[in-house]
Amino acid sequence: MNRQWQLARRPVGDPSSGDFRLVETAVPELAASGSVLLHNRYLSLDPYMRWRMNDAKSYAPPVAIGDVMVGATIAEVVQSNDSGFEPGTLVLAGGGWQDYAVAKAATLRAIDTSVADAPAFLSVLGSPGFTAYAGLMKIGMPKAGETVVVGAATGPVGSMVGQLAKRLGCRTVAIAGGGEKCKLAIEHFGFDAAVDHRDPDLAAALATACPNGIDVYFENIGGRVLDTVVPLLNDFARVPVCGLVSQYSDEGSYPDETRLALLMRDVLVKRLTLRGFIVTDFAQYRDEFIELAAPLVAKGEIARLEDVVDGLENAPDAFLGLLKGRNRGKLVIKL
Ligand code: NDP
Repeated sequence: MNRQWQLARRPVGDPSSGDFRLVETAVPELAASGSVLLHNRYLSLDPYMRWRMNDAKSYAPPVAIGDVMVGATIAEVVQSNDSGFEPGTLVLAGGGWQDYAVAKAATLRAIDTSVADAPAFLSVLGSPGFTAYAGLMKIGMPKAGETVVVGAATGPVGSMVGQLAKRLGCRTVAIAGGGEKCKLAIEHFGFDAAVDHRDPDLAAALATACPNGIDVYFENIGGRVLDTVVPLLNDFARVPVCGLVSQYSDEGSYPDETRLALLMRDVLVKRLTLRGFIVTDFAQYRDEFIELAAPLVAKGEIARLEDVVDGLENAPDAFLGLLKGRNRGKLVIKL
């Protein structure tokens, strides 16, 4: 049988476990040539999945009610109609929240576990690591001596942003949820300073951590944290807008209508660059990223942290925890 988590209903505000339904179906059959049957081994859980639960226009279509929740997986090829993928090969796939999936061979990428273990390909060497690289290097363009600030700093995107910026000679400042994560940011991921976004005086803490202002703010959070960052941005600061995790479950109504106007004032007066991006926009730089990151990961020069939860049955609870910051590092389900 194939266990799969389907979207049962669309959440309003914070999602709950009742929004998902566990269903047993037959293992799918191999289709025409060029397709393979995959047995998912690891499932990546990511903040973007919250947006895909909404029926709203976005950069990717919503998950339909009754459809399997989407997600990247590391999977083993168990049957193949394609000469490029022998049974037993481990691949990066979009296998979704389920045990088995049929995929087109052209959408798969074999992974090399001599470089790193399988979860790394959903983390530092996967989409989060590449997201950090693309947003930081192609939009943030930090220079030695500049100050780079990033939120969700102990997650896979934020922790990679911090480490890449540090290697370029920047001062790196983490924004994270709680004292334990701030400690982790400094001691495990090597940030120069860390502030807790729940600190009632976040503005003062951030100003102290950034005595020379902020040159690159890698935006992962949005909301109140962004309000706190904007006054500290230096002239010509760059803001790669990568994610807005604090806003994914809200309904889009903000009380103060003048805030956008005030932000635009800063954009003009400080000549700020704000640029939204989706990692796939930078696909042409993926090989460049892997060439840089794979040897560093293999030699242990990039710190990683994966939060591996056992069992597909635990996927919804783990996902709800991610949206509340209960993960510690990259959240992965081991199937
Ligand atoms: P994480 O594993 O870091 O998980 C999300 C983290 O967000 C939580 O652990 C929590 O960290 C933080 N968070 C949740 N709610 C809030 C809140 N209300 N206020 C502040 N922080 C909050 O995620 P990723 O590293 O996978 O992703 C980071 C960001 O990058 C997300 O916004 C994601 O959507 C985005 N992204 C964008 C991509 C793109 O192509 N543009 C691709 C991949 C990711 P803490 O406990 O520290 O608060």
